[in-house]
Amino acid sequence: MTSTAPTALVWLKRDLRLRDHAPLTEAAHFERALALVVLEPQWLASPECHPRQVAYWLDAVHQLQVDLAARGLPLLLRVGALPQVLQDLRREVAFTHLFSHEETGPGWSWTRDRAVAAWCRAEGVAWTEWPQTGVLRRLRSRDGWASRWAARMYAPRLPAPRGFAAPPGWAIQPQPLPTLRELGLAEPVQAPPPAGERAAWATLGDFLAGRGRGYRRALSSPLTAQTGCSRLSEHLTFGTISMRCVHQATEARIHPLSHPDGDPALARDLRAFAGRLRWHCHFMQKLEDQPDLEFRNLARSVDGLRPGDGVHPGEVDRERLAAWCEGRTGFPMVDACMRQLNATGWLNFRMRAMLVSFAAYHLGLHWREPGLHLARQFLDFEPGIHWSQMQMQSGCTGINTLRIYSPAKQARDQDPTGDHLRRWLPEFGTPAYPAPIVDEREAVAEIKARLHQLRQTAPARAEADALQQRHGSRRSGLPSTAKPARRPRPPAVPDSQGSLF
Ligand SMILES: Cc1cc2nc3c(=O)[nH]c(=O)nc-3n(C[C@H](O)[C@H](O)[C@H](O)COP(=O)(O)OP(=O)(O)OC[C@H]3O[C@@H](n4cnc5c(N)ncnc54)[C@H](O)[C@@H]3O)c2cc1C
Repeated sequence: MTSTAPTALVWLKRDLRLRDHAPLTEAAHFERALALVVLEPQWLASPECHPRQVAYWLDAVHQLQVDLAARGLPLLLRVGALPQVLQDLRREVAFTHLFSHEETGPGWSWTRDRAVAAWCRAEGVAWTEWPQTGVLRRLRSRDGWASRWAARMYAPRLPAPRGFAAPPGWAIQPQPLPTLRELGLAEPVQAPPPAGERAAWATLGDFLAGRGRGYRRALSSPLTAQTGCSRLSEHLTFGTISMRCVHQATEARIHPLSHPDGDPALARDLRAFAGRLRWHCHFMQKLEDQPDLEFRNLARSVDGLRPGDGVHPGEVDRERLAAWCEGRTGFPMVDACMRQLNATGWLNFRMRAMLVSFAAYHLGLHWREPGLHLARQFLDFEPGIHWSQMQMQSGCTGINTLRIYSPAKQARDQDPTGDHLRRWLPEFGTPAYPAPIVDEREAVAEIKARLHQLRQTAPARAEADALQQRHGSRRSGLPSTAKPARRPRPPAVPDSQGSLF
């Protein structure tokens, strides 16, 4: 170690941006600062990781390196496990403070955070974490959650820091990043969309400017959702824009549109979108409060319903799982959607729910293995939303209405012209396309009956009450009417196209 001057190390994770970034803002006040991103072997080796996600992450890191270098902050990339990476770095620079955002991540990230906390204590490094969404750490009760979420979302956002003081002798210029090949990963067949903060603001900007018109109608069909939805999910997942910035820009846009001489229809669409931003944090809060929901049923009363849940003695039906993952179940809407997802990394909400419902009810698969496949495919994989939704769409939360999607009905409603089918399932109608893998009516009736039976018992009902108390929305319909006690007026001009760069 070379010096003991107060030195801040900003550890960037899924917060790859300049604006509204508390750890960077704090570091800018320090005598010396530098920043670190870590490519962790636990992530690369995890069954949820896809090279497409790594490519996207590297793209965002590269852009941030350039933007931080322009402000005098070196952003180092290290490949390795934590806290060893911190230990090694501390031999080169005697950082005294570690700054990062809180993370509601997969199981391995909780273990890693505990190890980092222990290391910081042993080394005398002061670690400060800031929240970056509406998720509340160490939450005691869900009562009042929506107001606390709103208070965070209406709090002033932080501007991008103007400059930093790097420790002497540190190269500020961006260093070459590893390629996928150097990391031993295959190139994705289709390149992911542009990552980074500029792309995030451009995506938000054109959605608010007019692309969001018709959002409510466009949401459900895979044909219209691709452009009709905001497409912000991967930006929120990788933190290239903060939830607060999205929320405030949306509110600022809605405000003038809501006047009779504004554009009330667009305002209604944007309000529906704004409500979903709260869902994001509502679902993440569940994993924050109960990290093991990634692995086991929330409602223990349904344990044993499907093989593969670690309780039932049976094994996951590998043939069914493979047919589902590869889009060859013989149910055309299911297969076309899965092919779209596997090729592009994105699918709209309703079709995600249909895929899971099909796996859970038609194929009788426990949600964990199908969930790993989807997590790998989703560019926006966000553990808190993902695992909560996997459980919900499989009927394992104990508190939600069972929703069983009929693929044929979804095809009629959401792809009436068959355009989606022709695009993603060219072999449909030829001998190459398989027959249905199960008898739909029989399979669904059987599992539905068993599930209803399990949910009817007195202990199951008592469990459901406890789950509702712990995780349930206090507003049954979820979407937004949440307001802080005193709601600050949004700024008159949306800053979605503000000039940061
Ligand atoms: C089984 C399943 C798994 C899912 N896994 C993920 C995931 O890993 N990551 C993820 O971001 N979303 C997930 N979702 C929710 C939803 O499908 C996506 O957020 C949405 O399709 C992303 O596209 P968008 O940004 O254009 O959405 P928009 O419709 O434009 O919504 C804006 C934002 O609101 C939030 N949001 C929208 N719908 C939901 C919802 N139902 N629950 C929670 N938040 C929501 C997201 O942050 C989204 O980016 C999952 C849904 C299901 C059914």
